Amino acid sequence: MSAPETKSSAKPVANPWILAIAPYIPGRSTTDDGRKVIKLSSNENPLGTSPAARAAFAGAANQLERYPDASATELRDVLAAKHGLDPARIIYGNGSDEVLHLVAGAFAGPGDEIIHVRYGFAVYEIATRRVGATPVIAPDRDYATDVDAILACVTDRTKLVYVANPNNPTGTYSARDEIARLHAGLRPDILLVLDHAYAEYIDGDAEDGGMALAESASNVLVTRTFSKMYGLAAERIGWGYGSAEIIDAMHRIRLPFSITIAGTAAAVAAVADTEFVDNTRGHNAEWRRWFSDEIGKLGNAGLRAVPSQANFVLVLFEGKLTAEVAYKGLMDAGYIVRWLPGQGLPDGLRITIGTADETQGVLGALRDLVETAG
Ligand SMILES: *Cc1c(COP(=O)(O)O)cnc(C)c1O
Repeated sequence: MSAPETKSSAKPVANPWILAIAPYIPGRSTTDDGRKVIKLSSNENPLGTSPAARAAFAGAANQLERYPDASATELRDVLAAKHGLDPARIIYGNGSDEVLHLVAGAFAGPGDEIIHVRYGFAVYEIATRRVGATPVIAPDRDYATDVDAILACVTDRTKLVYVANPNNPTGTYSARDEIARLHAGLRPDILLVLDHAYAEYIDGDAEDGGMALAESASNVLVTRTFSKMYGLAAERIGWGYGSAEIIDAMHRIRLPFSITIAGTAAAVAAVADTEFVDNTRGHNAEWRRWFSDEIGKLGNAGLRAVPSQANFVLVLFEGKLTAEVAYKGLMDAGYIVRWLPGQGLPDGLRITIGTADETQGVLGALRDLVETAG
């Protein structure tokens, strides 16, 4: 008896649009030679996590055999009360990354176009290609989001626009009137996704009006995360707010148990700990200002801080010291930052605002590198 004839080369072949995805590169936590160093590469909270959130997380250890509440009722109720929202219109996911994927999956497919800005969050392009849609890249205005450039990219095929505000990796912020103008310029059948991962870090009480648009318009989704300000990146809790129709479509493709009991408990406790959030916001504002000012003093060496409203600063290297040399030099000095040549930013380093010691340390190391470069 002989086996049915098969070509020895036969094998499953992934969809071509999947193979076109350049994999996401996470921030590193060790050097090339494996040394553990100070990690300023992933925009994590340098003050840690709310002690109340930590205690709530530990308290969940006696429920490990249980499935989580698939409808996340407690989390939605807490978020709705905190932000003045309708709990029925809150979606949640395994980090806001999952929410960003869900919206593409529910609203776009092969033949459709999804717009994002040139120096935008890497997940947008992956989420776009994953569903077979085509990424369309809007040029920036000196690293900032350019509303007119986005509107000029709209075609009959445009289904969705991703805008992070503040943006990552640039840290730039588009004010309320700019976001209103963007929304007003989009056809009502185009979904505007406003990614508010860093919304809590904006100076003063400023906000871009996105949540009010999500409340009233039928084509806006706002996403938020517990990973940054709330210091819960490990626990992967993100959420979004939009019209009942948008949220309903996303629920249909959501994994039923994508957020955990422990993560939910930590998130609920974190929302109540306003002191931790206030401390983080104050710390970040102070050291972001200090760091940006100090980089400004290195202007004659070609260094420049892009104005940031987030918990990191994009530093441009336009003189003798290149970003690549600075990246390696900082690693030797014990600091890992983010160099993003793969995202079209070979001349920039994105540096997370750390503790006071870390922020002063990384600035001192940069100053030494500037001196060595001459
Ligand atoms: C960090 C970040 C997120 C949040 O990701 P999570 O999946 O919630 O951890 C979303 N958008 C942007 C722009 C980010 O930088």
